[in-house]
Amino acid sequence: NPNWFCPKTGIYTSKHSPIPLTQNRLQDLVTFLFSKPHKGEKALIDSLSGLYFSYSDVRSKVEALVSGLHQVGILKGQVVLILLPNSIFFPIVLLSVLSLGAIITTMNPLSSPQEIKKLTAGLNIGLVFAQLEKVGTLDSLGVPVVSVPSDLNYDSSKFTFFDKMISCKQQITFRPVIQQSETAAILFTSGTSGFSKAVILTHGNFIAMVELFVRFEASQYEKESWKDVYLATIPMFHVYGMSLFVFGLLSLGSTIVVMKRFDAHEAIRAMDRYEVTHLPLVPPIMAALIKRKDATGCVLRSLKQVSCGAAPLSQKLIEEFLCRFEHVDLIQGYGMTESTAVGTRGFNNKNCKKYTSSGLLAPNMEAKVVDQEDGIFLPPGKMGELWLRGPAIMKGYLNDEKGTASIIDRNGWLKTGDIGYFDHDGYLFIVDRLKDVIKYKGFQVAPADLEAVLTSNTEIIDAAVTSDLDEEAGEIPVAFVVKRHDSNISAAEIVKFVAKKVAPYKKVRRVVFVQSIPRTPAGKIMRRELRNCYCASKL
Ligand code: AMP
Repeated sequence: NPNWFCPKTGIYTSKHSPIPLTQNRLQDLVTFLFSKPHKGEKALIDSLSGLYFSYSDVRSKVEALVSGLHQVGILKGQVVLILLPNSIFFPIVLLSVLSLGAIITTMNPLSSPQEIKKLTAGLNIGLVFAQLEKVGTLDSLGVPVVSVPSDLNYDSSKFTFFDKMISCKQQITFRPVIQQSETAAILFTSGTSGFSKAVILTHGNFIAMVELFVRFEASQYEKESWKDVYLATIPMFHVYGMSLFVFGLLSLGSTIVVMKRFDAHEAIRAMDRYEVTHLPLVPPIMAALIKRKDATGCVLRSLKQVSCGAAPLSQKLIEEFLCRFEHVDLIQGYGMTESTAVGTRGFNNKNCKKYTSSGLLAPNMEAKVVDQEDGIFLPPGKMGELWLRGPAIMKGYLNDEKGTASIIDRNGWLKTGDIGYFDHDGYLFIVDRLKDVIKYKGFQVAPADLEAVLTSNTEIIDAAVTSDLDEEAGEIPVAFVVKRHDSNISAAEIVKFVAKKVAPYKKVRRVVFVQSIPRTPAGKIMRRELRNCYCASKL
């Protein structure tokens, strides 16, 4: 047996040496990030205009916005909703809110007003940061909304409040005491089943993420990782983009080229113009890049590493990528919102290149592979549900003891709902998913949320949502609908009905009319069976 797997306990430990994490209970995330010495100069570049914030700008803007937030009465423990696409202001807003001990919550800015209202209902939000064009749609929240410019080239007369806050000169004399165990963020996810859930991540979780994932990886590759230039196409409102771009890289001193939203042409232009060295992405972005004839090894000559996560990457895409970009190191990473994006991370060297693997366990993390039938802990080479334990695992789901207990056991093991195995070198391979979540272009869609929307239509008696594979998006939501016997509602009308109520990425893309929805004796929708039947019927 290898020394990283114990057959007695069934525990896999990381092959990497443990990293000492700060034991100071009174360590908050922002002080921790700003305490790391580095030689970085340009911090955040706006990909379109080329305008940028230097590292000293980041510090002074955060200082000012902290005062601005304090002046408008934001207090420790209060929740601030950030409804923004990527911009060079996003990290400033996030770091400022956290500095005050307030709690950030983020959501896809494309979320519908109904979705936002539903998800934030129990949160006691004190302030919202949103795009100018969204402000009018947020009235029903009954909370002040600050509109944030999307880049540095903005008309200040339209952003007077934000301008005032971010140039606030008043020094605040106190700093709240923040413990590592206190909540930093509340992020939404689908969990393993049911409706969307609110994940509580602490300052300590993010500190662990920065140490175990970002700073650890940088230490493995380059002595001068602060010289690296990253293209930020992944949204900072998602745990992956937030942890990497806002927290991890800013502690290293790297440069982050920020794209408001992914566009293949613009991404290629930005990689060329800013000599991007690292490109973190999700599979659909890789697919879109590969389709472009102008994405050549010559244009992307500065690119050193592409890291892919959030969803499965197909063998076909991997092969196409490696064939086109021989000079680039391709790795995959695995994590989830509930683990602050920490899990495994690819690691290629001359002797070992496993592109289809999600990599090795991060330092300080442990895993188990559990047989679904009999609960036995499985050795390398055997496939089962992956469990994770370690300092990056969430505190729990907000106001949901039952939900938390169903995903984290008494010994701190997070049951990921993913099926996989470790090979004999300790590399993880994710093979399937037990849980209900659908991943459309890497974004989570909770089937239960869509089922609730569908059955709110009076012409629909019952509905179930599952996924089908899709070359461009990875997966798409498919709805199985039982309509009222006297209803003539069409599939197109149902698609339209749902589209009006949810964010565009959550739309139902196909509707299948059925006589009844298969359920277990306990009333649980048999999604897998539905999906298998549907896929078989297409053959
Ligand atoms: P999220 O909470 O949005 O980050 O989603 C986490 C889920 O995304 C995981 O539980 C997996 O189902 C999926 N996922 C993340 N990384 C990978 C990967 N490298 N390969 C396959 N699925 C992944």
